[in-house]
This record gives sequence, structure tokens and C-alpha cells, in this order.
Amino acid sequence: MIDSHTHVTSCGDDPDAVLARARAAGVTGVVTIGSSREEMAAATALAERHVDVHTTAGLHPHGADGWDDDLADHIERHAAHPRVVAIGETGLDFFRDRAPRERQLAAFRGQLEIARRVALPVVIHARDAADELVPLLAAEAPETVVLHCFSMPDRLAEVAGHGWYCSFAGNVTYGNAGALQEAARRCPAELLLLETDAPYLSPVPFRGRPNEPAHVMETLRFVAGLRGSEVEELAAQTSANATRAFRLRAPATGRRPDGA
Ligand SMILES: [Zn+2]
Repeated sequence: MIDSHTHVTSCGDDPDAVLARARAAGVTGVVTIGSSREEMAAATALAERHVDVHTTAGLHPHGADGWDDDLADHIERHAAHPRVVAIGETGLDFFRDRAPRERQLAAFRGQLEIARRVALPVVIHARDAADELVPLLAAEAPETVVLHCFSMPDRLAEVAGHGWYCSFAGNVTYGNAGALQEAARRCPAELLLLETDAPYLSPVPFRGRPNEPAHVMETLRFVAGLRGSEVEELAAQTSANATRAFRLRAPATGRRPDGA
């Protein structure tokens, strides 16, 4: 089972211990996000040591005020690292508005341009910004788009029509998430991904406590229940989707040639 979006290096515990608990729970691979200079450095160092860890290069919309040519160069050079499988997470967050919207738009469009140039998928963070984000993405996205922490259930048909992956996080398990649950039920099987977004958004029964990749198994069980699928079948489907979307190099067999 692959956790398609997590922040292992921000989980507040030794990343090796976090990964060990994930493997013990049945997690065979993670994509740990690098969305600041510091996170990129830490995540890449981790991915170099663990064959079941891949990473990304980008700038989170919360940090969009830091977008400039120098950082754009840094991200593009970093994207050439063999363990980097996507650009992001980037996007628009008009809910928290931690950076001015023009800055978020500049950083977002700049990263879409990099993703096209280096031919990598883009990992999208979207919050209360679908009206601005979806048309921009439709016009400027690279070939592969992953909508992380999927949060636009009313646009499921439209985004599925574009062939964009929809990655559901632990909040799909929450009692008030009816529309999101309906989207997880109806999402085309070949576009469905599951993630933790750890340390955020712990699924039930861990809600309110720090999240970690091992807990993706709870989201897996919950979404399998929604879809009337066998847990093993959904794990295989979502892991195959993650492997295809991110063109993961190491097969998700759970065996680690490094013996770590
Ligand atoms: Zn994230």
C-alpha cells in the first residue's frame, strides 16, 4: 500500500522510526513532499537512504511570498534528482491566505511551467480556490496532475474528465464529510489515490492526534468500505495508480534491496 502524499520529515519523530512503523502496518512506499528548501533537503536525504521513499520539489502556497527566480532555479535543478518524482506541492489556498493571492498565482504558474519543462507530474494543493485553479490547471498543467487532499467533490466529473488523479486523505473518514465520501465512492478506480498528508488530517480513529504514514491503512479500510471493495484489491489498485502517476522506479513489493 502506497501513501501517495506525506511529510515524513515533518512528523515530529525520527523519520526512520516513522517509516519502520509504516512498513509494519503494510505500507510499501511513500511519496514524502519537499515543498520548501528545508523540506526538499531533508526529504531527498531520506529518499536517498530508503528505496521505498520518493520525494518532490516545490514550494507550498503558504510559502509563496518566497517565490523568486533563485528558488525557481533551485526547484528545477532539484527536480533532476533521481528520487524526485513530481513538482509540488503547489497550488492556491484562498482559505488560509497565508501568502498574498498574486504571489500564490505567480508561484503556482511558475511551478506549472517547470513541471512542463522537466516533464514531471504536478502535485496540487487547493483550498477554496477551485474557480481560479481548475481553469489555470486545464490550460497550463503538465501531462499528469495529482489533486492532493482532494477537496472539490462538486467538480469530480470535470477533474476526472481531465484525467487528473484524486488523492483522498484522512478527512474522508470524518463524520461530516458526506460529499467527500460520495466523491470517494464515485471516483473512477484508475484515478483514485490514498494519502495521509501526515502529520495533518489523521483519519478516524486517530483524529486529533498527529498523523503518520502507517495510518493510511485506516483510510484504505474506510474507502474500501465506501466502494464495496476488498481492502487488498483497493490497496493494489491505488498503489498501481500511484506507481503509474509518479512513475515510481522501485516496485512496491515491500522488499528493500538495501536491507534497511
Ligand atoms: Zn502536503
